[in-house]
Amino acid sequence: AKAAGRNTFQFFTKSMNETVSRRMHIEQALRQAIKRQEFILHYQPVVSLDTGEIIGAEALIRWQHPDKGLIYPDSFIEIAEEAGLIEPIGQWVIEQACTDLRLWHDLGMKIQVAVNVSSRQCKQTSQTPIKDIIKKALKVNNISPSSLKVEITESSLMDNSEEMMTTLQDIRSLGVAIYMDDFGTGYSSLSYLKHFPIDVMKIDRSFIAGSIDDKTDASLVEAVVLIGHSLSLKLVGEGIETKQHYDYLRSLGCDYGQGYFISKPIESTALIALCQHVDNP
Ligand code: C2E
Ligand code: CA
Ligand code: CA
Ligand code: CA
Repeated sequence: AKAAGRNTFQFFTKSMNETVSRRMHIEQALRQAIKRQEFILHYQPVVSLDTGEIIGAEALIRWQHPDKGLIYPDSFIEIAEEAGLIEPIGQWVIEQACTDLRLWHDLGMKIQVAVNVSSRQCKQTSQTPIKDIIKKALKVNNISPSSLKVEITESSLMDNSEEMMTTLQDIRSLGVAIYMDDFGTGYSSLSYLKHFPIDVMKIDRSFIAGSIDDKTDASLVEAVVLIGHSLSLKLVGEGIETKQHYDYLRSLGCDYGQGYFISKPIESTALIALCQHVDNP
């Protein structure tokens, strides 16, 4: 039994060491990526389900790794958060999104941009509080606060409620609206909707995906639209992959939509081309 125990222990520490060294390697690479500016933003169009018009875009970060190619955020955001690197990365996202927005507005595009913000960027003790980063990025690029949106996941509201509340109020006092992302996945109570300064709810794509075949998912989507509207919130349906999803959400009176059926996340230049194509068919 003792030998088996030791083997188990050795096995365990070996795999743990591997995980730790892999993490450390990614952390180190992330630090370099920040210095070498290896990040890029893709933008996924958000449309009005009523008119089909593109009203905005969500900024989604990618890491353009010199050897490994394009790396998606699910592979590095969590590590960046745990390594304390999400603040500089998040600051870059806000600044880059505002720079791109300035260009779009100069080209006559009537469009807004939403940035994803992690709860670890919302610490009141940060060297540069996020509200100051946002305020400056808006000012430098001469952008109206109503053109910028901040997306925060439902689960990150629970991380440190008091601090989140204060930070979200600070951001909102600038005139920047708050979107609650991935709604329905965070196990939060409905009282969060009442207490937090939320303007828009994004219905998680897992419910949209299930809504066509699964009665429970469909009921949930319908209930979320009703709750949202009764609280005077706007709703975005995420992960619209088919015309069926699109038509269904539209029939429920869901305000906005995004998903592969409308467009995948694309580079700024492609978004510009898409908007010009729509403006001058
Ligand atoms: P999210 O905020 O929920 O973003 C939506 C994700 O769903 C994106 O994945 C997008 O490409 C994908 N998506 C959009 N439409 C569809 C669809 O029709 N079907 C399917 N299956 N997927 C769709 P992505 O870009 O890989 O981003 C993953 C997550 O990484 C994001 O989820 C967000 O939580 C996080 N993230 C992205 N950019 C940032 C950032 O700048 N900062 C932070 N803190 N997190 C970010
Ligand atoms: Ca989001
Ligand atoms: Ca989402
Ligand atoms: Ca998500």
